[in-house]
Amino acid sequence: MSKFFTEKYSSLTPYTPGEQPKDLKYIKLNTNESPFSPADEVCKAVEKEAKSLMLYSDPECVALRKKLAKVLGVKENNVIMTNGSDEVLNFAFMAFADKKNPLAFPDITYGFYPVFAQLNAIDYEEIPLRKDFSIDVNDYIGINKTIVIANPNAPTGLCLSLESIEKIVSSNKDNVVIIDEAYIDFGGESAVKLTEKYDNLLVTGTFSKSRSLAGGRLGFGVANEKIINDLNTIKYSTNPYNVNRLTAVAGEAVLDENDYYMNNCKIIIENREFTKCELEKLGFEVLDSSANFLFAKTDKIDGETLYKELKKKGVLVRHFDKQKIKEYNRITIGTKEQMEILIYKIKEIFKEKEL
Ligand code: PMP
Repeated sequence: MSKFFTEKYSSLTPYTPGEQPKDLKYIKLNTNESPFSPADEVCKAVEKEAKSLMLYSDPECVALRKKLAKVLGVKENNVIMTNGSDEVLNFAFMAFADKKNPLAFPDITYGFYPVFAQLNAIDYEEIPLRKDFSIDVNDYIGINKTIVIANPNAPTGLCLSLESIEKIVSSNKDNVVIIDEAYIDFGGESAVKLTEKYDNLLVTGTFSKSRSLAGGRLGFGVANEKIINDLNTIKYSTNPYNVNRLTAVAGEAVLDENDYYMNNCKIIIENREFTKCELEKLGFEVLDSSANFLFAKTDKIDGETLYKELKKKGVLVRHFDKQKIKEYNRITIGTKEQMEILIYKIKEIFKEKEL
């Protein structure tokens, strides 16, 4: 740390992104990316747009918002586009949480929530999940806090019903409830339609997972117009050109090819169920996932050792040190072939260790 780093940030523990190793060509099942390339039309649109890179991007993302609003069944004024959904989450924490409105989120969830809270000096309560890793909705009824719930949750993959989400939103009318739907296209029911009914609901989403655009950094928020205006106040006070030209046209082309992406989601869901079944045959306990990853453990080998052994064999999965989940690994769902290799490598490890 330099002597210039201000006191307010000096104790910040930054988010640790999943490894992006350069040494070997790994089968990457550690950061919940899509195994499928963007549609050809997306690549063509980006190539064409590159000729206009001397110009700033459209800060309002008008064309993109129009298309996304249509796909989501809302009005364009109910949508904000951001640099990944991490950015809309940070904007929302800045806009809707403070000393008087502290945050509340599950104790096992997306690791960026506590980081954004610390960054913005917001107090937060981490509400324990049940023993089976499910969220107890009763813990969130009328708690007068700014609530953030990933649905499906990460890294568990477990999903709340729309009815449960509505109970939480309707019982906390004086606070914003943020539902992070990064993984919603893999099985959950979106709360976007509730944004018309509740002025305290913000749903966030991303093009990083189901729409194969993690490297493009495109996220969004959907809410009542007043909430979107507040988020825009933060956006225009930090980075008005937050969505660059290449990403904006890529996003539009992605939405034009919706069938391709939704079909990819179907394949991922099939591969997920195949992998779950194979892991269970090997003695793993696997949570019921509505996302593009599985959360699994086995008594045969501890979580960290399995992660390390798989890495040696060229397969990367995600292991977390947190005490409550250290026996588990989070495994991103890739192509059928990648999942077959994963299972094969696990069998090899078991054989080598005589498990
Ligand atoms: N929410 C959750 C639950 C996530 O797992 C992630 C990705 N790691 C994000 C939001 C942010 O994704 P992105 O910024 O790529 O949209």
